[in-house]
Amino acid sequence: METNNTKSGFAALIGRPNVGKSTLMNHLIGQKIAITSRKPQTTRNRIQTIYTEDRGQIIFLDTPGIHKAKNKLGKYMVSAAETTPKDVDVCLWLVEPSEKIGPGDTHIAGLLRKSNVPVILVINKIDKVKKTELVGVIDSFRKLMTFDDIIAVSAIQGKNLDQLIDAIFKYLPYGPLYYDPDTITDQPVRQIASELIREKALRCLGDEIPHGIAVAIIKMQDRPNSDITDIDAEIVCERDSHKGIIIGKNGSKLKEIGSEARVEIEDLIERKVNLKLWVKVRQNWRDSDIQVKNFGYDASKL
Ligand code: GDP
Ligand code: MG
Repeated sequence: METNNTKSGFAALIGRPNVGKSTLMNHLIGQKIAITSRKPQTTRNRIQTIYTEDRGQIIFLDTPGIHKAKNKLGKYMVSAAETTPKDVDVCLWLVEPSEKIGPGDTHIAGLLRKSNVPVILVINKIDKVKKTELVGVIDSFRKLMTFDDIIAVSAIQGKNLDQLIDAIFKYLPYGPLYYDPDTITDQPVRQIASELIREKALRCLGDEIPHGIAVAIIKMQDRPNSDITDIDAEIVCERDSHKGIIIGKNGSKLKEIGSEARVEIEDLIERKVNLKLWVKVRQNWRDSDIQVKNFGYDASKL
């Protein structure tokens, strides 16, 4: 690959939870995640996904959703998300295709306007609406701020993602690649494994335990002379009643969470996984500095 003509830079993904940030990343990068970064681990709380092609490299920062913080963990996640726009070359603001603008949107627009970074409005999930409805959506968001580009996509169907990539490259500076072209993330495998378990748990549990769980990997070890990796992980919740819900009748919920997570971790590390899950109750872990730190968040930034 020619390196003197390449562009390389950072694109932040901003948006409310559930707008499809992770889905978009997965679609751009493909499912397999190889962890071969040359750089030391610096940011633990923003997932970096790296897209490389002939034109260069886009390093995506998938920020935690910006929302109102209710406790220390929430505050921390919001501050990580809110400080991101200043350090990047371009911001992608992902939204749902709806004309309704909420206080959250106004807040995000305010942050983006202050940041002085080019902003691309990305209207996701266009597979859910008619083309004619998009005009109204665009009008509503345009009232909030001026966008450098507006692109409508479907992350799930991979629609218009080429246009999105084209738009992002417009705002990246020329320069050598930051990462080896084969690298697609800089997250350590343990952290991805714990995120996968957490995601599966939240999906299986629906709204029963909103935000109230964390996952800690206690052990992750390759068995010598075999293709099996043993993983012990703890799902931590705040109340005994939650513990019961997570375990489910005769352990059915926990089994479901474990088997879904196992399949994805196996894909990720390309080894067989023996996953053991436990559920622990630690009251108010979200309000405790030590415990928030234990789970991989940097409490000094709280
Ligand atoms: P995040 O919280 O912003 O990372 O959102 P996720 O990527 O986890 O997606 C939240 C939900 O929206 C999931 O159920 C996705 O399957 C769904 N979703 C994401 N992108 C699309 C899309 O383009 N179309 C539709 N119909 N659903 C989508
Ligand atoms: Mg996500």
